[in-house]
Amino acid sequence: LIRLRDRLSRSQNVFGRGLLGLLARDRLDEDTWEEIEDSLITADVGVEATREIVDRLRERTRVLGTRSGTELRALLAAELVNALDPELDRSLRATPHDGTPGVVLVVGVNGAGKTTTCGKIARVLIADGRTVVLGAADTFRAAAADQLTTWATRVGAEVVRGPERADPASVAFDAVRRGIETGVDTVLIDTAGRLQNKIGLMDELGKVKRVVEKHGPIDETLLILDATTGQNGLEQARVFTEVVDVTGVALTKLDGTAKGGIVISVQRKLGIPVKLVGLGEGPDDLAPFEPSQFVDALLG
Ligand code: GDP
Repeated sequence: LIRLRDRLSRSQNVFGRGLLGLLARDRLDEDTWEEIEDSLITADVGVEATREIVDRLRERTRVLGTRSGTELRALLAAELVNALDPELDRSLRATPHDGTPGVVLVVGVNGAGKTTTCGKIARVLIADGRTVVLGAADTFRAAAADQLTTWATRVGAEVVRGPERADPASVAFDAVRRGIETGVDTVLIDTAGRLQNKIGLMDELGKVKRVVEKHGPIDETLLILDATTGQNGLEQARVFTEVVDVTGVALTKLDGTAKGGIVISVQRKLGIPVKLVGLGEGPDDLAPFEPSQFVDALLG
């Protein structure tokens, strides 16, 4: 497991040094509270969540009277964790059941990190003693199947791919069939994320979903979201939640942004639990998302 703390250094500047510094001021006057609010919004926490967090912090610092650094850290941590709905079930539903493989459909816009995340998830599962088939149903981008094949070789998974420009649904269908035939634990299906128009996406992903479900239910539909795209990315992501039943989010590229607060907006605005975080380009740069661990790392 990679060290979360090392990879979130950009966000730590805002949350740890920045916010804790502001809270530690001798006088918490209106200007200071405004600065606190601004930092949270700049870090992509979202307006509504920011207001709630700030209101509660104001109330609690007032009650607290004198404040030590440790107390302030604990206070801020508690509010951030609370904003992340700590009770949600965040386990990835990828395990086999009734003798058939767990099926994970991976969706999201191009460039969000779908192929990479498929590879990383396969890596985690295989390290855990499981067997995996990767389905290269992103047949739109020419290099996508090659990229997934490289990952498969690297982590020791089998890949199922079709001819160039093959029908994504038929590749997805074949991947699940192969997974059932060979008795693997998990089938991960990488899809294309063209977003020119919602109808096209709906047709394509809808068909992939229907065809895969001929084999049995999809256990997890994982939306891959690039953390660096901020509130815009969130709007794009919403389209996917309208097209397929998204059951979890993997937030990628958190290593490259100071806007780690996006994890709070994502969960609030989409109403879907963040289950995984991407923290780099390497095979081990994926971590399960656990609110208190994450917040702890965010505060540095
Ligand atoms: P796809 O089009 O959605 O399949 O996206 P890719 O998996 O091809 O990823 C697009 C780019 O983002 C690649 O260069 C990846 O290496 C990079 N990438 C993916 N996840 C992460 C991450 O968590 N951190 C960083 N820094 N880069 C990532």
